[in-house]
Amino acid sequence: MNSVYKEFVSTLEHSVIKTNENMGKYTSFKTGGNANFFIKTKSINDIKKILEIANLNNIPLIVLGNGSNMLFKESGFDGIVLKIELDKIIIKNETVTVDAGAKNAIISKKILDNELQGFEFMSGIPGTIGGAIRMNAGAYGGEIKDLVKNVTYIDYSTTKIETITNKECNFSYRHSVFGNNKNIIISAELKLKKGSKEEIKNKIDEYTKYRKEKQPWEYPNAGSTFKRGKDFITSKIIDECGLKGYTIGGAQVSTKHAGFIINKNNATPTDILKLIEYVKTTVYKKTGKLIELEIEII
Ligand SMILES: Cc1cc2nc3c(=O)[nH]c(=O)nc-3n(C[C@H](O)[C@H](O)[C@H](O)COP(=O)(O)OP(=O)(O)OC[C@H]3O[C@@H](n4cnc5c(N)ncnc54)[C@H](O)[C@@H]3O)c2cc1C
Repeated sequence: MNSVYKEFVSTLEHSVIKTNENMGKYTSFKTGGNANFFIKTKSINDIKKILEIANLNNIPLIVLGNGSNMLFKESGFDGIVLKIELDKIIIKNETVTVDAGAKNAIISKKILDNELQGFEFMSGIPGTIGGAIRMNAGAYGGEIKDLVKNVTYIDYSTTKIETITNKECNFSYRHSVFGNNKNIIISAELKLKKGSKEEIKNKIDEYTKYRKEKQPWEYPNAGSTFKRGKDFITSKIIDECGLKGYTIGGAQVSTKHAGFIINKNNATPTDILKLIEYVKTTVYKKTGKLIELEIEII
């Protein structure tokens, strides 16, 4: 590992390299184990070099956007966590070209300034566009798939840059082709429409107000812990099972929104995982419904 570290230091030009870094710092749950290597980068060339080194040395690698849908177990990650910080946003007519590490809130502001509509539902989703594409993030009836024209990525094995169309992204509920491969999204083109600045702003304000009222923003969390059911609303059945407020260690089923598990009081990843299991088992015993995780456990 020491020689790999030296290789990173001597090869990478625009990246920050850390070893044994705690992932709680970079994830919205604010708790997590350590990663052997943590690298943040703003350089496509560096991403390619990192992949080459990882592939050559057989070191597992995972990509991190804003860490708002991930939980690292206490045992940590024996490999490289690569945080993508490419963040350019270019707007030309109705086409928005965004780098993968650009944050939804910042993209949303730029889009509003340019009087383009369609991105409003994304404004309050606390992540990067790369994470949103990977997850096909969505809210209030919209999903990022509705806006994506094409996506550019670095192929994990060849390190070549490729571009695929919306159709090739194979989007479905909280899923895209990037869930089946390890390719690294570097940018995307979004297609929006001209709109009225006032109407766009009103919609963003309305969604923000709704989120503040209904979701537990006061505590670290990773959004909805579980996916929506096919024929049921997961948070509703968790609530009906009497689980709101149920606590294990520092982790709690939010009293504000039963679909969210929160880090109420210095929760360990194990507290959160135990609570997830408890909720799943209780819901199954009481309703016969199987609920599936939306957040990713590393
Ligand atoms: C308070 C709160 C509210 C939320 N509300 C919503 C909501 O309304 N709707 C919703 O869909 N989600 C919601 N989420 C969950 C989360 O914000 C989304 O899933 C978001 O899109 C994740 O983006 P991220 O950049 O944080 O990704 P991360 O959590 O960093 O990563 C998520 C996945 O994407 C992969 N990934 C990240 N970047 C790249 C890249 N460049 N290339 C390839 N793979 C990549 C990661 O490896 C991981 O598999 C919420 C979360 C919180 C904390």
